[in-house]
Amino acid sequence: MSVFHVVSCSGGKDSDATLDLALRRFPKSRVIAIFCDTGNEHALVYSHLEYLESRHGITIVRLMADFAEDIARKRMYIARDVRTRREYDRVPRLDASGRPVYRRTNAGEVELREVKRDGKTVLEPVPRMKKAGGRRVRWSNKAKRRALETLHPSGNPFLDLCMLKGRFPSRKAQFCTQELKTMMAVAFQLELVEQGHRVVSWQGVRRDESLNRAKAKLFERIAPRLYAYRPLVEWSAVQVFAHLAAHDVQPNELYRLGMSRVGCMPCINVNKGELREIAARWPEEIDRIAEWEARVGRCSKHGYSTFMTDAHPAKDRRVIFAELMNIRARVEWSKTSRGGKQIDLFADAPPAACSSAYGLCE
Ligand code: SF4
Repeated sequence: MSVFHVVSCSGGKDSDATLDLALRRFPKSRVIAIFCDTGNEHALVYSHLEYLESRHGITIVRLMADFAEDIARKRMYIARDVRTRREYDRVPRLDASGRPVYRRTNAGEVELREVKRDGKTVLEPVPRMKKAGGRRVRWSNKAKRRALETLHPSGNPFLDLCMLKGRFPSRKAQFCTQELKTMMAVAFQLELVEQGHRVVSWQGVRRDESLNRAKAKLFERIAPRLYAYRPLVEWSAVQVFAHLAAHDVQPNELYRLGMSRVGCMPCINVNKGELREIAARWPEEIDRIAEWEARVGRCSKHGYSTFMTDAHPAKDRRVIFAELMNIRARVEWSKTSRGGKQIDLFADAPPAACSSAYGLCE
């Protein structure tokens, strides 16, 4: 039985530092770097992985989800669908005096979530929701024809997953991370465990990144012979960059080009400024997402789906999805200021050479 240290690499600064720490502490033969390829990555992520491989003299194992079998099952399901179930809207639950009821943790405390208000991140209580309205849900013959024509494996995990679900992920249903990254990494590690090895999963997680990660543990046992180790839990982003600089590891070029984090291009959680930056620097990525919106929409019952989902005051869902919330409309919105009411005159100016959110360039 051997002990393997599996480092999940994303191409971002935290996993770069984690990989460097693992390789400093253990021989290369005991360290396995893995990369879960979502298929929605920027070309600079792939070149950064190649850079890491030559910098450290290692090979990074690429893992890619395959949904071909699930898609075949879904095609059969659509073709045979005769359901009559109902679909509901969700509205906040109110108490007897008409005040919103909030969700509570097991300890009885009101649950809080991070939201953006006027460009600032603030905490607000999470309301309890209940079902309202109700519509009968089934595939119409027209929708079946449209979906069966389009729903074929493309070989791109992100697109295939969204076509399979008939929608894009959202903050509340972030199935992309789960299916394209977490499950792939865990399956890889479990396979090693089943071969009789001990596995330590090195994760570049920092507590100051988000509320969800605020209680991340340095070390924990996940399952028999499977452990998680998070060497950066107490580090800040500045410390991570300082570590990389001290050990001569170049961070991903995307940081210098205005991205505050490296992940999908774009991520469904992309912020307004980043979306504007992406549209200005890499309009081809926006074209690709627009094409994906059309394909995923054709695989859904409704016939439309948008990459960035959000609440919208308009009533007609077709108008919301097809016109107001698609990626091109969101790019236009990203060029506005003051909550989308005012056109930002400098938004169409060419991007500056370095717009790093971390101030990486002198
Ligand atoms: S959350 Fe963002 S970065 Fe993570 S898998 Fe989903 S789209 Fe990609």
